[in-house]
Amino acid sequence: MMDTARTAPEIEAAKPDLAVVGVGSVEQHSAHLPVDTDYLIAARAAPAVAERLGALSLPALPYSVCLEHRGFAGVVCMKPDTVRRIAWDIAESVGSWGVRYLAFVTFHGGNFILNPAAREWNMDGRSPRIFFVDFYAGLSDVGQNLHACEVETSIMLHLAPERVHRERAADFVPAWLREDITVFGMKRLTPTGVWGYPTRGTAEKGRRWLEEGIVKSAAKIARLREGCGEMG
Ligand SMILES: [Zn+2]
Repeated sequence: MMDTARTAPEIEAAKPDLAVVGVGSVEQHSAHLPVDTDYLIAARAAPAVAERLGALSLPALPYSVCLEHRGFAGVVCMKPDTVRRIAWDIAESVGSWGVRYLAFVTFHGGNFILNPAAREWNMDGRSPRIFFVDFYAGLSDVGQNLHACEVETSIMLHLAPERVHRERAADFVPAWLREDITVFGMKRLTPTGVWGYPTRGTAEKGRRWLEEGIVKSAAKIARLREGCGEMG
């Protein structure tokens, strides 16, 4: 595993062409999951994505854009422009020693800014090429689960069961669309902070969703890397 536990000469000798960064968040996950849920999952899953690709695994970012969770305790939020600058600073850094592709894998849905950040950087012709991958995009059987839900509760039951307070989990699905969070914020749409069915979560479902997300994210990154090789 090539990661930041290695020395500079070891990394130089390995000449990684691809680096992977998980993007977590510190934000409310209702009463049954910890506020660092997204960070914990990012820190565990992104290295597995990197390993499948033979890539350099960089430490996951603990903070990102979670403005929509304002009003709950435990929320630590970066503004979109901050995250764009962090992404570009990481890109400049790794590009200076030869990394050609940099993949941000987000484990928090509010990081829309990474898409225009990657697009602007890439269309300016800069190196490394930035890939933006949403870990949860395209997972099977997700239904109306969006936040502190069956999916996240299951993955946490698989990774860190001692940190899940199952007895406090309560299902709730707002009568609104995900895109309406932009207008109202989470607190008004879901006073408990849940969007979905956390009581249906199991460790076995979590193991399957986590594995599916790792495989799909790695496949997406591999395809993009291949495409860059073909099309320049
Ligand atoms: Zn989350």
